[in-house]
Amino acid sequence: MTFKELNIINPILDALNDEGYEKPSPIQEQSIPILLKGKDLLGCAQTGTGKTAAFAIPILQKLYNNRQRNQGGRKIKALIVTPTRELAIQISDSFTKYGKYTGLRNTVVFGGVKQGSQTNELRKGVDILVATPGRLLDLIGQGLISLKHIEYSVLDEADHMLDMGFIHDIKRIIALLPHQRQSLFFSATMPPDIVKLSKQILGNPEKVTISPEKPTADRVEQSLYYVIKKAKARLLIHIIEEGDFYSVLVFSRTKYGADKIVKVLNRAKIKAEAIHGNKSQGARQRALSNFKEGKTQVLVATDIAARGIDVSGLSLVVNYDLPSVPETYVHRIGRTGRASASGIAISFCQPDERAFLKDIQKLISKKIDVIEDHPFVDEIDDSPAKQTRPPRQNRSKKKSGSADQRSSSRTSDGSSNKRNDKKSEGANRSKSKIGNRRAKAVKKY
Ligand code: AMP
Repeated sequence: MTFKELNIINPILDALNDEGYEKPSPIQEQSIPILLKGKDLLGCAQTGTGKTAAFAIPILQKLYNNRQRNQGGRKIKALIVTPTRELAIQISDSFTKYGKYTGLRNTVVFGGVKQGSQTNELRKGVDILVATPGRLLDLIGQGLISLKHIEYSVLDEADHMLDMGFIHDIKRIIALLPHQRQSLFFSATMPPDIVKLSKQILGNPEKVTISPEKPTADRVEQSLYYVIKKAKARLLIHIIEEGDFYSVLVFSRTKYGADKIVKVLNRAKIKAEAIHGNKSQGARQRALSNFKEGKTQVLVATDIAARGIDVSGLSLVVNYDLPSVPETYVHRIGRTGRASASGIAISFCQPDERAFLKDIQKLISKKIDVIEDHPFVDEIDDSPAKQTRPPRQNRSKKKSGSADQRSSSRTSDGSSNKRNDKKSEGANRSKSKIGNRRAKAVKKY
């Protein structure tokens, strides 16, 4: 199946060609024909499947085919509501890319920044608006946005919308939309409250399910390090240096933790920045662009801030802390291995996180490979990895030093004293494991 066979018009085909998209992803193949026919859609799919293009392409195509209606001035005809600013910006960028030869205009509005530049864009006239719920309602309240002319509405990441407490905002927005419209509803999971909400929005929709969580997890090469909390930073530095990873996304459970990881990495001369809710929108955007442009090697993020981050060529995802909600693990590692690319994810498990690990392995229906040889394994008293190995004195005599000697080449904050230290055998073995698994993300469509 090609995009041409999906009856996509030339101005959009040319733009997809510029993006290097050779063929539609499964969600695009299934959704585009439904949407071009004008039907409502209930899509069960997570970010990373190509769902943005699955809705953006048909919306652009339909608006383009009816473009003569723009003569009396542009009205907002398509509305995409999404939970986070990062995701909103990304969706708007996608509309800009796919629609660059259509003459259609889009803009994005989100909270946490002054509204001036956003309202200036709105005044110039737009066909497509991407918005987070709070700022959208705010601007509607000020009379700066009208939803009277909406023909296409998209509710994206509905489950996260509800998790983030947006349900009342969503209901208010829905109530303002014209009755006559085409509605699209996307969610990675379909718990009962989401199904209920979808029924309030959609009229007799067609359903598309892109096997929600597991396939992404299956595509990503996952491994696990048992490690004590105190040694996590040193282990992270060791992995980044030994594996020579160039673009690493690290997940931290807390904002404070994220800042601390950045400090330790920077002290070890590894360029890192953090994004989380305590940072201003400008600082978050800057950190994200620096990371995307390769100016920083490591981006440390909390789950909410990382939602929707789309970085092609991400070489490694690290779960510095294991998440307590197992689905979050799948979302996190889905940052690598996006849109059929393969990826690598590494998780650290400290003793009090083992219950989280059990839940994660249950969800993904497999045991994550444990990397048993790393320089800090001996710091942990009851490591399951250690229990599977013979006692120290019986192990290979080839080791270049004791665990203490091996880790003593670093200061307690994890910075390297002597970068060219002779590496221990354990370190070298984990290096080769990591090195062998290092692979550039390859898009397989
Ligand atoms: P999304 O799920 O919309 O966040 O898309 C995930 C990633 O897949 C983005 O980086 C897109 O640029 C990329 N992508 C979407 N559709 C295709 C396609 N047909 N071929 C190759 N890459 C794609």
